[in-house]
Amino acid sequence: MGKKIRIGIVGCGGMGGGHAVAIFSGTGNAIYFVKDAHVPGFDSPATTDISKMLELAGIVDIDPARQEWARGFGMYVYPDYETMLADPTVDAILIATPNHLHKEEAIQAMRAGKHVLCEKPVMLDSNELLEVMAVSKETGMVFYPRQNREWDEDYLIIKKIYEEKLIGNVFNIKCKVMGSRGIPGDWRGVKAYGGGMMMDWGVHIIDRIVAMMKGEKITKVYCDLSYITNPECDDGIQVTLTFESGLRVNLEVGTCHFVNEPLWCIYGDMGSAEILNWKLQGRMVRLNSWDEKDTTPILAGAGLTKTMAPRMGGKSVEELPLPKVEFDHNELYKNFAEVCNGEAEQIVTQEHALRVLRLMEACFKSYETGETVKFEK
Ligand code: NAD
Repeated sequence: MGKKIRIGIVGCGGMGGGHAVAIFSGTGNAIYFVKDAHVPGFDSPATTDISKMLELAGIVDIDPARQEWARGFGMYVYPDYETMLADPTVDAILIATPNHLHKEEAIQAMRAGKHVLCEKPVMLDSNELLEVMAVSKETGMVFYPRQNREWDEDYLIIKKIYEEKLIGNVFNIKCKVMGSRGIPGDWRGVKAYGGGMMMDWGVHIIDRIVAMMKGEKITKVYCDLSYITNPECDDGIQVTLTFESGLRVNLEVGTCHFVNEPLWCIYGDMGSAEILNWKLQGRMVRLNSWDEKDTTPILAGAGLTKTMAPRMGGKSVEELPLPKVEFDHNELYKNFAEVCNGEAEQIVTQEHALRVLRLMEACFKSYETGETVKFEK
């Protein structure tokens, strides 16, 4: 195992505070910070102890209340970012400030000889990321996109169903992340700060699907945005991606939904599965045979239907629990430390983050033109 990486965190709000507790406690587990949260997988026995890999050097935040909060845990608080960058004991910077600050902070850090772990969305657009990638190459410093939701248990279950063809060949995947609180009343509601739901949750759900499809070509992108609770920034997104294989993926984020649809639905030619929520309630329904005898019609509204009559269970379909997945919740922290020590390749690469940002740009273009956009990259 390589050298312990000493990390300074810039921006110690909601997410930076979570990182600070996770690294300071050495568990990589911010669950201690979110009281009573149900976080599946955090109790996974496979979780790596990161205390031997990472160490919190300190934090910096312009908000005195956040400085006090950090001191309350016994964390060191730097007076400003420049002082943190000038500390020779600091190996890496974790950027967790509002989105519009990421680029300058990343470039400053790499020029000061520090590796960077940068919160999503890593940059406001692909041009910013290209600039940062050039500085990473020039300085030899690691720039690591923290696209952590590739380790979400709900996503990993869907990935397993897809990859192992547990319901046959998949033709449609739907992921819907829904809440009812609008855009939080902070910088997320301001465009210049990188606000809006595409930049917030959109990046996560696009990132995961792109990662799952392992570079398969996307032939069509269609996107619609909503501005129900905020006239400046999108408070909801609906994206349809069509892959070369014909797989259609529908991704949705909503913030004005007081009843929710399932978090995931996945449809194959031999079954379907759903995950209702982050508590991972759900099921997989598998078809044994298409040769079911003809069925009797059911009443559907003012008419009858045979086509939509539900299967009665029994021989033709079986209902199964969702498959279990093994994963290490601390994989990204671990991989970052190993990459800084030259011991591993980045799992979440700069090129992957670039593709995700370009896809988000294609989504904005589709919304502006009202048309389906071809995606060449
Ligand atoms: P937040 O508003 O809770 O925290 C931001 C903090 O940055 C605040 O404490 C603020 O005072 C501080 N700050 C602002 N300007 C600063 C500056 N110039 N120097 C130092 N500190 C400064 O926001 P958040 O929810 O913690 O989001 C921060 C970043 O983390 C965003 O990029 C967001 O997209 C990302 N995030 C990622 C996830 C994830 O799951 N990966 C989840 C939430 C947020």
